[in-house]
Amino acid sequence: MTTTLDQLSDLAAEATVCAERPPLVVTSPLNGLTLGAVPAGTPDDVALAGERARRAASQWAAWPVQRRCAVIARYRDLLVTQREELLDLVHAENGKARVAALEEYLDAVLTAGYYAKFAPRHLAPQRRRGALPTLTSTRVAYQPKGVVGIITPWNYPLTLVSSDAVAALAAGNAVILKPDSQTPLTALALLRLARQAGLPRDVFQIVTGAGATLGEPLLDQVDHLMFTGSTATGRVLAEQCGRRLISCAAELGGKNALLVLADAPLQRAVDGAVQACFSNTGQICAGIERVYVHKDVYDAFKVAFVAKAKALRLGTGPGYDVDLGPLINQAQLEKVQAHVADAVAKGAKVLTGGEVRDDIGPLFFEPTVLVGVTDQMKLAREETFGPVVALYQVADDAEAIARANDTDYGLNAAVWSGSLAHGRAVAARLRSGGVNVNEGYAAVWGSTDAPFGGVGASGLGRRHGPEGIREYTEPQTVAAQRLMPAGQPPWLSRETYAVVMTAAVHWLHVTGGQLLGKVMGR
Ligand code: NAP
Repeated sequence: MTTTLDQLSDLAAEATVCAERPPLVVTSPLNGLTLGAVPAGTPDDVALAGERARRAASQWAAWPVQRRCAVIARYRDLLVTQREELLDLVHAENGKARVAALEEYLDAVLTAGYYAKFAPRHLAPQRRRGALPTLTSTRVAYQPKGVVGIITPWNYPLTLVSSDAVAALAAGNAVILKPDSQTPLTALALLRLARQAGLPRDVFQIVTGAGATLGEPLLDQVDHLMFTGSTATGRVLAEQCGRRLISCAAELGGKNALLVLADAPLQRAVDGAVQACFSNTGQICAGIERVYVHKDVYDAFKVAFVAKAKALRLGTGPGYDVDLGPLINQAQLEKVQAHVADAVAKGAKVLTGGEVRDDIGPLFFEPTVLVGVTDQMKLAREETFGPVVALYQVADDAEAIARANDTDYGLNAAVWSGSLAHGRAVAARLRSGGVNVNEGYAAVWGSTDAPFGGVGASGLGRRHGPEGIREYTEPQTVAAQRLMPAGQPPWLSRETYAVVMTAAVHWLHVTGGQLLGKVMGR
């Protein structure tokens, strides 16, 4: 790639456009300075991308999966060699601390490596029990959807572009991706790496520009949509996909809870909770915004948690000595301020933080811990998406579980306990797509072989694991019939057929089927 920060403008050349477009200027949240510009794409550009993708998709799908995965493996290797350039770019474009950029970079490398290695296994046709044992040989093949649309947000501009595209491509689809307008350069840098790795040009395209302008035209070109972003936009897009009868997956917001049980290892719980609440300046879909602590350990936890939150270092620097960068934009800063002001006005108490830090940069907000948050306050239930967390004292596990589950969302949860069995038992009672035991979010997120996603208002579908790649396929059942028809054979009367088949179906489903299935190895 060899893209250093002063060479960002030529990344725009990777975007698909059918004519010259006005520039969409990209500025850094660190200081408001211009980083570069990309084309403000139009529906015509999306249509061009769609035409090219449709033509390219069938050729790409015809490549053996191992050959497709060899491209993904080369792309992964390029991610590895370009680490510093990519981290610099994410830092500059999103503003996040390098340590947070590293987290998403590692996820991107892991996911690309995972699908390069395991896609052939996850996509291999599977034998299933046929209509008539031994006579019907049934297999399920995983056929690519065709052209996949991906719309990504700004908060994880590297891994959300890379990891969803990799899974869709490995499954044999062409991809048209629309990145967030605040972070298109990182997306284009990744596209350039994929092309350098040998990906045919039209198989993966990016159209840059406003989501409100490009969203519907994109849906007209694709067979499936993967959306990551706000619940509000997710609902709009899911409705539009429904009208077109195309499938969609959506990774949306969260109001994630962390539970500290009475037997929790306290210092580890404090360290993990601080990381889970303030990583990426709280702008993380799996981040924790509510902490429920058992009464026996509440006071000790509160003192240590507040002290650690207070010690976090805010900064604009590109090094690993910064814990928190700025919020992404003025609107996000105002939302965070409004949630805190609303809570304080209604009686909540700020234990640390609560202030804008424009001495550091225009969009900085202190890590903030509140107590006394009640249901009347916005931050009790609405996603804040900033460095703000509420602490609650609970009497026992049952209260912690009930309060954690009292939300429309369900993306991530965390449980801290000295006993894994206790932690797992509580986890099983939480309504959440993922639950971490003795970790905030990284154990689930980093388990690339296991599905990651939400329930309720947190979304539909999953990324990672076999589920995450099969989501980009249509299961196709091919059942081959041997010797005699699966239906009524010509030499049996309908009456006899009815009697024989009723008995056979009964036998098959009660005992014989299992036995025969074992004998036949299926
Ligand atoms: P957003 O407004 O929904 O924007 C996300 C993406 O959707 C951007 O690319 C945006 O394009 C595009 N978009 C906006 N309106 C659109 C429309 N009408 N049609 C098609 N596309 C449209 O979300 P955000 O506020 O930027 O992102 C933060 C949210 O994402 C948070 O709520 C967070 O929880 C969620 N999130 C969830 C996950 C997860 O995995 N569950 C991960 C990351 C973020 P423009 O930039 O051009 O407007």
